Formats: sequence, structure tokens, C-alpha cells
Amino acid sequence: TAVSNIYPTAALRAADAAHHIHPFSDTKELNAEGSRIITQADGVWLTDSDGNRIMDGMAGLWCVQVGHGRKEIADAVHKQMCELSYYNTFFKTTHPPVVALAEKLAQLAPDHMNRVFFCSSGSEANDTVFRMVRHYWAQMGKPEKQVIIGRWNGYHGSTLAGTSLGGMKAMHGQGNLPVPGVHHIDQPYWFGEGGDMSPEDFGIAVARKLEEAIDQIGEDKVAAFIAEPIQGAGGVIIPPETYWPEVKRILKERDILFVADEVICGFGRLGSWFGSDYYDLKPDLMPIAKGLSSGYLPIGGVMVSDRVAEGIIDKGGEFYHGYTYSGHPACAAAALANLEIMEREKLVERVRDDIGPYLQKHWQALGDHPLVGEARMVGLVGALELVPVKGDRTKKFADEGTVGTICRDISFKNGLVMRAVSDRMIISPPLVLSHEEADLLAATAKKTLDETY
Ligand code: PLP
Repeated sequence: TAVSNIYPTAALRAADAAHHIHPFSDTKELNAEGSRIITQADGVWLTDSDGNRIMDGMAGLWCVQVGHGRKEIADAVHKQMCELSYYNTFFKTTHPPVVALAEKLAQLAPDHMNRVFFCSSGSEANDTVFRMVRHYWAQMGKPEKQVIIGRWNGYHGSTLAGTSLGGMKAMHGQGNLPVPGVHHIDQPYWFGEGGDMSPEDFGIAVARKLEEAIDQIGEDKVAAFIAEPIQGAGGVIIPPETYWPEVKRILKERDILFVADEVICGFGRLGSWFGSDYYDLKPDLMPIAKGLSSGYLPIGGVMVSDRVAEGIIDKGGEFYHGYTYSGHPACAAAALANLEIMEREKLVERVRDDIGPYLQKHWQALGDHPLVGEARMVGLVGALELVPVKGDRTKKFADEGTVGTICRDISFKNGLVMRAVSDRMIISPPLVLSHEEADLLAATAKKTLDETY
């Protein structure tokens, strides 16, 4: 019996308030209002405890690529759990599903990436990155290369390493972070920070902040640069076209590893298998999670280039790092079943050639709304910049974030989950979104903007 059937809604809310500390929530405020309770999901649709159907415009937390309720994944997990529910991959041991998944990922990843280290989440992947880049340089005889450069407003997870690598100042403020050895540079956020510059000039200028930082710290001390191909949690910051080529030039000229955090951009979100394919980044390491299993079970990893493998594998010696659930068999089975669906249903191609351009057209039209300063989208991830004065990028709402929160709540009431990042409305729907659902998504977003205005 589903828990939702034996627990009346009011009792569920009361128990939640009494015992459950929610991530990224003001728990006191939430307890006063009571949680929204989701009881079921199917395709792009959620059902709440009052029987309302709400479109999941965020694919959970940017992760449910193949849509909710795919029995095929549940069956694969069930079968795996009956056969081998758990064994570890430490100490020279392996098992069939983890091998099959590693091989599959090597096939899907850019050509120069042929190995993967598994973990359970994006945060753990970035903790692995933190240790792996330092281990790599020590193995290469340059142990003084320790500093990792990240970006303000980047997001790389919630653990000590993830929070530190990320550039969320509110997170840094809790717990005296970042840890030593991390440096942040500006983000390529033209709409908010581009001033009078053209997007092209701004892209170059902000990329050169990386060069300035390397010069300031010293190339011999910098281990790596980490960035999301498109910043997700920071508000879907799509860099100007000039940005990545300039960053690549700088990193190529310097002896510094490039970490492309693919936790959101990977697995079809941009209409390519990885954001690194979309922008031709050729990174040295790629943290992955979310879309790897469409969130059906927790699994993440770090894809490792042949260059880094030379340091951490070919040179020998043990990397003292691993998690009990690195390569968990049931999670690997879920990921394999998920990737099989993605390939069979050609979801990546679908985002690139069909539903991506289709939704983007709708989204661009929302850019004409008087409340919207910019509508941007790549693949199936997009943002609307809400502004008080249309046509003026310099004006912000007096009470930053309030309009976004109001808009988010109206959207939910209208039957669409959009996320608010301050006064930016975000969508990142499942890749199986149909044309009719895309029409409805856009119509609901329009209605929501009208009601917020
Ligand atoms: N990296 C990026 C780019 C993310 O967007 C996220 C989560 O949103 C993470 C890392 C952390 O992943 P997780 O929440 O699975 O730890």
C-alpha cells in the first residue's frame, strides 16, 4: 500500500513538520504553511495529495530526462536487486552492471574520455574532482598545483567541496566557506552584469578574468578551472558565444585542468549528450549525475580523460578515495535502463531537432511580455528575466526575489512547476515533453506572467 493511501494529508503534513528537515528550505516558514505533497508522477505530470495534476516543468531537480513512471527502469532495478542487490567495487572487485555502465559511458562521452569513477550524487562527484585534480598533479610531480578556480554564482553541490567550488555567497556564509585553495572569478552573465558591452565583448572580457586570476595566483599553483557549460542553479546563465573559445585558449596555453560540470547539462539537456559536446569544450574531467539515471536512483560519477588517467592510473599507486555506494549495482542498472530508453527513443536528437526548437520558439515569444527583459533557452533549459522596466537591464526590483517567488507560486497554482532563481523563472522539463504539452507549458507560463504583472 502506498504511504499516501494510509496517511491522511493533514497527518502527513503534521508529521513532516514535526520530524523532517528539508533541504534548501526555511523549515520554520515551511512548517507554518505546510508542505506541498506530491504523491505520484507519470510522464511530465505530477499529482499532489489533493488530486491536482501539475506539469513538472523542472524535471524534478533538472534530472528526470525520460519522464516519470517508466516501468522499464523499475523492472531493471527489481531484477538487479533480486540478483545482486549490493556489493562494493573496492579492493579489486567488480560486478556486471557497473562494468556495463562504465563501458556505455565511455562510448557516449567525448572520444578522449574513456574512464569513469562512480559515486552517488553530483556533490560527491565534485568532492571526487577536488581530490582527484590534486592527486593528479602530485602524481605528475607538481604537488604545489593545488588551487581550483571556480566562478561566482556557479553551483557544484552542497558538500564542503561542492559548496566551496560553487560561488553561492549565501552558502559560503554558513560555515565559513570556501575551504582554502579555492578562488572565484566572475560569471559570463551578460544580461545582469554586461553593462554597456556587447555580449561578444563581454564574453571575451569575462573569460580574461580567468587569465588574470591565473597570473595573480601563479600558473604553477593552479590545478584546475571548474565551470558548468551553462550555469543551471545560478539562473540558466547562457554564456555569450565568444566566452568558451576564449576560456579554451587560456587553458590550452596554461598547464591547467579543465573540469566541465555536466550534472545538469549532461544527458541531453542541451540537445547533445554532454554540454561539452555542444560547446566543444574538450574537458579533462566531467562530473555527472542527475540525468544519468533520470533520478530513478541516486548515482553520479566523474568521467576521466586519457590525460588525467595517465596521472592517476598509469603512474600507479592507490588513490585513497571511494564511497560505499560507488557503482551500486541497482543504481547502475537504473542508469543503464535509463540510457537505453534515451537511445531507443532518440531523446537527445529529439531535443536538438524537434521539441527543443519547438519550445524555444514559444519561449522567445514570452520575451515580448512587458514583465520579461530576456527569454533565453538552449535545448530544453531556459530562463525568463523578470524586470520592473522593460528594455532597461540596469533596473532591478526593489525587493529582489519577491516577484520571482510570487510568479513561482502563481505558476504552481496554474498547474506548472517553474523554479524561481531570484527574479528569474526557470524551466527544464523532461525530454519526453510532447508538442501539446509544450503548447500548454507556454500558455500556462504566459497566463502566469499576466497574473504576476
Ligand atoms: N553540479 C551541478 C552543476 C548541479 O546543478 C548540482 C545540483 O543541482 C550538483 C553539482 C550537485 O548535485 P547533487 O545535488 O546530486 O549533489
